[in-house]
Amino acid sequence: MATNKTATIAVRAGINNDKHHGAVVAPIHLSSTYALTGFNEKREFDYSRTGNPTRATFAEAVAELEQGAHGIVTSTGMSAVHLLCQLLTVDDLVVIPHDCYGGSYRLFSHLAQRGLFKLLVVDQNDSDALEQALAQKPKLVLIETPSNPLLRIVDIKAVTEASHRAGAMVAVDNTFLSPVLQQPLLLGADIVFHSTTKYINGHSDVVGGVLVTKEKALGEQLAWWANCIGITGSAFDSYLSLRGLKTLPIRMKQHQSNADAVAKFLDGHPAIEQVYYPGLADHPGHAVACKQQKSFGAMLSFEVKGGVEAVKALFAHVSLFTLAQSLGGVESLISHPSTMTHAGMALEAQLVAGISQSLVRISVGIEDIDDIINDLDAGLTASQSGLDNADPESPEPENQAAGKPSASTLRVVADNDQQKKSFSFNPALASLW
Ligand SMILES: *Cc1c(COP(=O)(O)O)cnc(C)c1O
Repeated sequence: MATNKTATIAVRAGINNDKHHGAVVAPIHLSSTYALTGFNEKREFDYSRTGNPTRATFAEAVAELEQGAHGIVTSTGMSAVHLLCQLLTVDDLVVIPHDCYGGSYRLFSHLAQRGLFKLLVVDQNDSDALEQALAQKPKLVLIETPSNPLLRIVDIKAVTEASHRAGAMVAVDNTFLSPVLQQPLLLGADIVFHSTTKYINGHSDVVGGVLVTKEKALGEQLAWWANCIGITGSAFDSYLSLRGLKTLPIRMKQHQSNADAVAKFLDGHPAIEQVYYPGLADHPGHAVACKQQKSFGAMLSFEVKGGVEAVKALFAHVSLFTLAQSLGGVESLISHPSTMTHAGMALEAQLVAGISQSLVRISVGIEDIDDIINDLDAGLTASQSGLDNADPESPEPENQAAGKPSASTLRVVADNDQQKKSFSFNPALASLW
């Protein structure tokens, strides 16, 4: 059978797989348990933690899009990351990027502190640091590209080849691009994973995760652990995510076209100090991004002139962009990494990582591009006229009001000082826990 192209795989996922009624759309199977056909005669499914038809359909679709052998759908993106840890023993060393997703950093560093494995945090673009790390024969190397929030790019093929030479397995967090824009397994990686909460579901109404392995045996091993520790995704979430997945290729096209226009608009805008977007020719990762990505994605960040006060004014004067963390939904979101996604990092560590107070991150949605640009333009103009010109009587934007997600609930780590302290790190220094 000819291999279908991405849009076809996505749209056709689960179509016509209902053996009983011929339902065109894959039905949702909510039953927790399945009848045996007789004594010790199991059907394909017996209990929903272990296997569920709706979840299996979604897993197969993502595996096909990533061109892998086996997909495992998990309850969240973090449980997908946690599942990787089941492959490790106390003597194993794990290498993670210094600018990986905050939740992944928190998970790996806290488990390493409990002695479950050893951990090395490195800047994978620093070839000496990477070489030194690989010389210690790690079991697992984690790659995340583009990174958050500065959209740094890591050469997946080069790092994977070096890791394989050192005997390590490679897992790539592909959340920021989705399989439509980047396919790490084809670049040599052993495992690719996603927070499906983001682009794959794409409608900001499910929290979920998925891992896809290149080899069937590794996939079966991870599926065994997913059932064992009980982190498989629910039927309902799988159903919604499968529905979201069908429009992933066409959504990505619109995200991409809008993001290209936004990047061009921001680059050279008088209110902007610097734009971080791999699609811009002066971005340090541009050449590698051109090589390994189909396009540049719809996440970008920028520094506003005028520091944090200008950022506040910008946030107060955008109305289409919602002030919220997360990304990859159809709606445009704007955020302040320092007080939101990266609030768990000490300020000095943020600075070393390149996260300044004037840094703003946006997830470009699929609204009409004219409205997106007009909204940003209004916000940026206000950001430069100073807070004095902002109407002091105007109410706070809805999503900044008390009770709505705000800096305190948006922290990656808990508020208490102890956790904060243990989360702090100097990304410039590779640290062995
Ligand atoms: C959101 C995210 C995760 C974690 O996923 P959840 O679904 O929130 O648990 C992991 N990696 C990246 C890059 C993410 O953006």
